[in-house]
Amino acid sequence: MYYGIDIGGTSAKIGAFENDRLVKTWSIDMNVDSLESMVDRILDSIKELDSNILGIGIDCPGFIMNNYISSSANLHFLDGVNLKEAFAKKIACPVRVINDANCHALGEAKAKKIDNIVFITLGTGVGGGFVLNGKVLEGAFGSFMEIGHMHVDDVYNFRCGCGQVGCLETVCGQKGVINLVNYYRNSMQTQLELDYSVKDVFNLAKVNDPLASKVVEVFTDKLGLALVNAANILNPKMIIIGGGISAAGDFLMRQIKTNFYKYANQNIAKTEIGFASLGSEAGMYGAYYLIKDEKQ
Ligand SMILES: [Zn+2]
Repeated sequence: MYYGIDIGGTSAKIGAFENDRLVKTWSIDMNVDSLESMVDRILDSIKELDSNILGIGIDCPGFIMNNYISSSANLHFLDGVNLKEAFAKKIACPVRVINDANCHALGEAKAKKIDNIVFITLGTGVGGGFVLNGKVLEGAFGSFMEIGHMHVDDVYNFRCGCGQVGCLETVCGQKGVINLVNYYRNSMQTQLELDYSVKDVFNLAKVNDPLASKVVEVFTDKLGLALVNAANILNPKMIIIGGGISAAGDFLMRQIKTNFYKYANQNIAKTEIGFASLGSEAGMYGAYYLIKDEKQ
């Protein structure tokens, strides 16, 4: 069978695939302190199930180019490692490693059977991936499609984790919500508790709470702007929105579409916008298609 592996900070999700179907999935603890123990732990767990491993696709957070991880988000023993080579020392089957958001993009594109998509994930930060003619792309330095760092704001000038100001994720995603709530909290009326969640902000915006409405207005305006910028360059058939904040559902989607079409020209306005459908399985699916397509 083929295997799609989604490596996170504390666990790795492994999916076994047969004829494009996810037939078995399990998680293994990633509480390891070295590259070798991580590779051993993953391979031991797969070999228990299968003696004929056809290929392994892996997604991992961090800057990754040609299977080389220049810096990983959480597992620092992966920094400066060619993970494909590390696996090749232990197993003969093909292995391919890619950035997680780009991998999720590939999974979602395959699930929707669309060859050209932009994928954006609204979580703690804002990430993304891009699939062109059915292939996921990587760029030169492993920071392909980092839409969270697209410059969209010259009003608030919140400092981004990347060192710049005005990045999309300073006004969008969970970090953006926190920045905007802090910015407006003392000057606008609100029912928002001090101990709030992003979900609370969207729920209050639905009932026209002034502060929450302002936060959602800025959030979706800047998101619409970033998505139109991406669409003008990449010309996707569909923009797919994933991540925890997409749980805000139709209310969020209506506002995203309003703002997207506000900035879109006639041609870009043909772009469809929809939610991701694979949820937490997107990484495993993307990693599977990555290795399966490469082998063909
Ligand atoms: Zn940034």
